[in-house]
Amino acid sequence: MAVTNSVNNSFFESVLRNFDKAAKHTRFDKGILDQIKACNSILRVKFPVKIGDKIEVIEAYRVQHSHHKLPCKGGIRFSMEVDQEEVMALASLMTYKCAIVNVPFGGGKGGIKIDSKKYSAFELEKITRRYTSELCKKNFIGPGIDVPAPDYGTGAREMSWILDTYSSLNPNDVNSQACVTGKPISQGGVRGRTEATGLGVFFGVREACSFAEDMEKLGLSTGLAGKRVIVQGLGNVGYHAAMYFQEAGAKLVGLIEYDGAIYDENGLDLHAVQAHRQKSGGIVNYPGAISFADPSEGLEQPCDILIPAALESVIHKGNADRIQAKIVGEAANGPLTSEADDILNKKGVLIIPDIYLNAGGVTVSYFEWLKNLSHVRYGRLEKRFNENMYKEVVDIIESTTGKRVSDLERKTILRGPDEIDLVHSGLEDTMINAYREIRDIYVSQEGVEDLRTAAFVCAINKIGVAYEELGIFP
Ligand code: GLU
Repeated sequence: MAVTNSVNNSFFESVLRNFDKAAKHTRFDKGILDQIKACNSILRVKFPVKIGDKIEVIEAYRVQHSHHKLPCKGGIRFSMEVDQEEVMALASLMTYKCAIVNVPFGGGKGGIKIDSKKYSAFELEKITRRYTSELCKKNFIGPGIDVPAPDYGTGAREMSWILDTYSSLNPNDVNSQACVTGKPISQGGVRGRTEATGLGVFFGVREACSFAEDMEKLGLSTGLAGKRVIVQGLGNVGYHAAMYFQEAGAKLVGLIEYDGAIYDENGLDLHAVQAHRQKSGGIVNYPGAISFADPSEGLEQPCDILIPAALESVIHKGNADRIQAKIVGEAANGPLTSEADDILNKKGVLIIPDIYLNAGGVTVSYFEWLKNLSHVRYGRLEKRFNENMYKEVVDIIESTTGKRVSDLERKTILRGPDEIDLVHSGLEDTMINAYREIRDIYVSQEGVEDLRTAAFVCAINKIGVAYEELGIFP
């Protein structure tokens, strides 16, 4: 569904344009702004992989956008849309994203230009391992250098292969587990990473909908309950976001996949749609819903909240006018071209920008990286530390209710927070605080007319200060 550069600005140009629009509202001179914008290191490799009895030459990238904080951080995607400009755009967004949620990383991104559906698991493993070895050779991976993570088309399985390849090539690195995040729990992953981006999207949209005056301007009630939601893309991010919206009482009226879309104004049940999808191989023809063979038609159906959660540039100047949503929550990276952004802003749509809204993934990656470096399991220290406090809680409950706390309840209270509780609450705080920081800029800074510009101002201010403090080498 991605659009070509001839119809719109390229993805990277859109990022630069959004940056420039915001930079005017900061105090930094051209030199610092140019340094923030520039992609510091770009790796482009072509390597051979034996597929069956043939040799295939694979094209792949890793871009380190900013070194103002190390390591660089960002996912690796498998997609036929991958090219240098796309990876540069995505790496840039990672820098701004990390700054907004106060995660101390520079931005990075990787991509392998393949259609992963065309390869067996064994072939994908060979491609991933060879790619990782290229990153090792060129110093583009390491716990303190550059730390990949899942992105479009990749997940915990690929992260395991990366970890194993890196560890084999760097046997003396005691921190090798921290060379990649998004790993399976048994390989040093953190509980809550899988759903983190989708849950972060949910927290962010929920926070936006909690401001009565902002909702009033859109003609909407405060809160999520009853709001009509369309989610585009049922991958890891879209699926989890949809699940949390449904659980919170929002009405999922539309779902869109790459091969079609479905719409039902009375609401769709995500789990039933998922079961239908598994049985029939797609979401279309879900009983009781209207089906669209062209997925982009799904974007244009009536709703309050639209969540594009797949690839970039799906909303562009060709279809932006037909979008009916009052709130667009960018779960994907760059789902709106800058022309579409202008059109929707003019229509008064509240756009919650990607560099804030999908930062839940990297936030929880940060927790995973810290866990790997500290060689400690989350929950263990806190449990011992807080034991007395939990005993006090039991006493207070018993004395105020006059009832004895049961052994099972006592056990739960004394156990203290599990890793998943810590991760989810850390993520929730992060998303709420970052939204308020961005909204404050939007509301109080003259000339800042939308949340995206406010988010960029927020990021540029933090990165600019870091560059000023560090000075220029030599
Ligand atoms: N690929 C995700 C993103 O675009 C996560 C990156 C990470 O965890 O490093 O934000």
